Amino acid sequence: MAPKKTSNAELVAVAQKRLYPNYRQAPFVLARGRGCELFDVEGRRFLDLCAGVAVCSVGHAHPAFVRAIGEQAATLMHVSNWFYNEANIRLADELCRRTGFARVLFCNSGSEANEALLKLARHHFYAQGQKERMRVVAFDNAFHGRTLGALSMTGTPKYREGFGPLGPVTHVPYGDAGAVERAMAPDVCAIIVETVQGEGGVFPAPAGFLAELRAIADRHGSLLLADEIQTGLGRTGRFLGSEGTGLKPDAISMAKGLGGGFPIGAMLTTEKLADALPAGTHGSTFAGNALASAAALAVLQIVDDEGLIEGAKTKGAALGAMLHELARELPQVCEGARGEGLLWGLVMRPGFVAREVLPRVNDAGLLLTGAGERVLRFSPPLVVSVAELREGVALLRGVLSGLGALRATA
Ligand SMILES: *Cc1c(COP(=O)(O)O)cnc(C)c1O
Repeated sequence: MAPKKTSNAELVAVAQKRLYPNYRQAPFVLARGRGCELFDVEGRRFLDLCAGVAVCSVGHAHPAFVRAIGEQAATLMHVSNWFYNEANIRLADELCRRTGFARVLFCNSGSEANEALLKLARHHFYAQGQKERMRVVAFDNAFHGRTLGALSMTGTPKYREGFGPLGPVTHVPYGDAGAVERAMAPDVCAIIVETVQGEGGVFPAPAGFLAELRAIADRHGSLLLADEIQTGLGRTGRFLGSEGTGLKPDAISMAKGLGGGFPIGAMLTTEKLADALPAGTHGSTFAGNALASAAALAVLQIVDDEGLIEGAKTKGAALGAMLHELARELPQVCEGARGEGLLWGLVMRPGFVAREVLPRVNDAGLLLTGAGERVLRFSPPLVVSVAELREGVALLRGVLSGLGALRATA
């Protein structure tokens, strides 16, 4: 083994030489975390209000979470889908109880969960002899992942460019039920929707829109699918973002926050669709792995024990108020704020680019991510405190007021 490097500069130099350059990582190397704090290899502290893009739902190194993973690793990690494992069965049961769905198909990521949704929809109709039902109706600006099936449903042209031909998908404006209606035809197997468009720029669904989709899908005999990868597991202040919206999907995808940082994804569906993918039609070696399942079970337990779903609602309301105030204070930089629960975007004025502002945010000791062109996204661990949210917004205020001055003097 090569001697161990310890400084940011040394490690980043190796990373830039060895890692495939499909990302633009910040120029420091994170080494450890606790709650909503992260520390780099040189000991510098960052306040983490992005949670690995809405993933680390119980924060970093939560003692009960660490204990559960350690115990499961020391007991049983993986057996493959030739055999059952206990943690996986318990997780499937818990997810069904909490969502009202009847069946769970596990996988390892969000994209894979959406692939499962797509295969479910196509095969459901195929098995009924409706072989022409192949097309999906999805939304402009939607993000459903990067594997080819998921990418075909993703609505951002720059992610799709150069990877065609992709599967047949019609993209229509988010929030426009009339456009969905016009895109429907006997070849449509499913409509897929996010209850808040996350990656696209944190756009909550307009009032009434999600409920209309159910009626449209029924009228045209297609399935209705919800991508709950970012909005699921309490992020919106409800277990699922679709709860209480009237969406009533036939199947959903989950991932991100479900494993709290351990990779796991899931497709949940109804008993009615239980025979759409019979034995042998779909699967994955790692899916339903005992360790991943134990991690997700521990996340659910902590979410219950610490009241994190109710907390996402109340702390999210506090965060929203702080961001609205920040936007009012700095109108030369900010256009406004929008979000739901603990998923918020601070929208900057045209001309500001999130990717260019984020290095300054990091320099101030705060970790956020961008969403869309000019939105700074907050997706903190659900265990975040209001004091930490206030600290983060104060750090951001410092950065953005500097930008305002920059622009005024330019
Ligand atoms: C992150 C995300 C995905 C993709 O998940 P991966 O785990 O990156 O494959 C899909 N849909 C939504 C809504 C997401 O936020």
